[in-house]
Amino acid sequence: MRESVFIFCSNMIDLVQLPKLAKQARPESILFFKKNKKKLTDADRLVHELHDKYSSETDCLLCANCCRTLGPRITDKDVSAMAKSLRMKPSAFYNSYLRTDEDGDMVFQSLPCPFLMSDNYCMIYENRPKACREYPHTDRKKFYQIANLSIQNAATCSVVYQVIEGLKEKLH
Ligand code: SF4
Ligand code: SF4
Repeated sequence: MRESVFIFCSNMIDLVQLPKLAKQARPESILFFKKNKKKLTDADRLVHELHDKYSSETDCLLCANCCRTLGPRITDKDVSAMAKSLRMKPSAFYNSYLRTDEDGDMVFQSLPCPFLMSDNYCMIYENRPKACREYPHTDRKKFYQIANLSIQNAATCSVVYQVIEGLKEKLH
C-alpha cells in the first residue's frame, strides 16, 4: 500500500492529483487569507465544522501521506516518551532514529517515518510526537495564525485542502 500510486482517501481525492490541485489553488488561497484577515480571526467555529466534516469522510489509514512525506518537529518530551515505549535510552533513540536539521530542530533521520508500518498504522501511536497528534492542525484555535503553513499542507493532506476550499466558499 505504501508504495502504491493507487492511494486514495475515502473522500476520493487522489493523492497523485492533490499536489496539482493545491498548486493551482495556492495563489487564490494566499489572496483569500490576505483579504479576509478580519473575517478569519472570528472563523474558528466554521473551520472546526469543516474539519469535522472532512476528517469524518477521510480514512487516514488509507492515506498516511503525512507520515510518508513530512517530518514532524520532535521535542525532548517526545524523545523521552518514544524511547520509553521502545525501552531504549533517549540517547540511543536519538542515535538510531533522529538527527538535528539545519534549523536546529530534531527530526526523524529518514522518511517515510521509521514507525510507519506497512498497513499504515503507527508503531508507537500512543507515544507519537505532539506534532503528529496535532496534524493537520485544522482543529486548533486561531487557525488564521497558521494560514501559510496550511496552504503548504494542502498539498499533502486532503483534509487541509478541503477545509481551505470550504472556507473560501463560505466566506467569499
Ligand atoms: S492527516 Fe491528512 S495526510 Fe495525514 S493521513 Fe490523514 S488525510 Fe492523510
Ligand atoms: S510517529 Fe507515527 S504518527 Fe508520527 S509520523 Fe511516524 S508513523 Fe506517523
